[in-house]
Amino acid sequence: PFDMLVIGTGPAGASAAIYAARKGLRTGMVGDRFGGQVMDTEGIENFISVIETTGPKLAAALEAHVRQYDVEIISSQRAKELFPAAKPGGLHGVVLESGAVLHARTIIVATGAHWRHLGVPGEEEYRNKGVAYCPHCDGPFYKGKPVAVAGGGNSGVEAAIDLAGIVSHVTLLQRGSKLKADKVLQDKLYSLPNVTVLTEALTTKIEGNGTKVTGLSYRGGDGADHHISVDGVFVQIGLLPNTDWLRGTVKLNDFGEIIVDDHGATSVPGVFAAGDATTTPYKQIVIATGEGAKASLAAFDYLIRVPVA
Ligand code: FAD
Repeated sequence: PFDMLVIGTGPAGASAAIYAARKGLRTGMVGDRFGGQVMDTEGIENFISVIETTGPKLAAALEAHVRQYDVEIISSQRAKELFPAAKPGGLHGVVLESGAVLHARTIIVATGAHWRHLGVPGEEEYRNKGVAYCPHCDGPFYKGKPVAVAGGGNSGVEAAIDLAGIVSHVTLLQRGSKLKADKVLQDKLYSLPNVTVLTEALTTKIEGNGTKVTGLSYRGGDGADHHISVDGVFVQIGLLPNTDWLRGTVKLNDFGEIIVDDHGATSVPGVFAAGDATTTPYKQIVIATGEGAKASLAAFDYLIRVPVA
């Protein structure tokens, strides 16, 4: 069995595995693709101390760093079920999609999240070429240009407020007749001079010139199709944690995020979690790596304090 088994090979998992291996722990790692969401990213300019990189480059660097250490990497595999130890200090079991079962005294869940997609033509084709999901990450790329935000919940309205300070104009499209964001956010949004809010506006297509986004089409409340010209479309209709496989074992909040304390501990002793899959706010690479290190150190603490059961 492993001392520590890390589930997920994104930034949080990579960081947890490195910290564990550096403690001399017998460390395993299970995941389907190294880098996680980082692999879906074009330019990265906010991973502190790395002025500029790309997703594939950072993913390769994360993997190379992990491979510096004696970490057993079980790749092209996903976990499908967790069997928590019967008592603290005992062995947890993790069933993989292949049917194999791995055992470990501590588990770090770092299975990340994925953005809900609009599912309209052009969205895949122009991903990273004008279609964006993270305003903190990609907002500055659209400085002085017009953009649209799809989604009128808290994240869409926050994105619109954030972007309005950077871009020339923001059009926010909400499918329903009302914004769903908190009132204070809506008040802030409506106070901004360079924002247009369209309700009952269903985004139907993202348009481009073959290399980048040039606009989008939406169906209005009048049933007619309309077009707006924009350089970017920020899709903000939900970030979904990859935690379905944990239902009924560790405590999740209403959004499906794993509830963690300030040490990354979950509701199950010996099971820790880090990164976008958790309740930790602000889903960013620098935060995921920090949280991965923290959860790993907390798991080490657990290993040295809790007697083997
Ligand atoms: P993830 O990166 O999601 O990695 C989790 C890994 O676990 C994935 O490989 C996933 O496939 C795997 N997994 C899922 N379920 C299972 C399972 N059951 N068993 C095993 N493995 C599983 N952040 C920034 O800081 N700067 C940016 O510029 C930036 N740009 C972004 C651009 C885009 C398009 C996207 C989508 C995100 C961007 N982010 C950016 C956010 C950043 O990528 C995430 O915050 C970060 O990757 C989270 O790391 P993580 O390790 O928690 O999860």
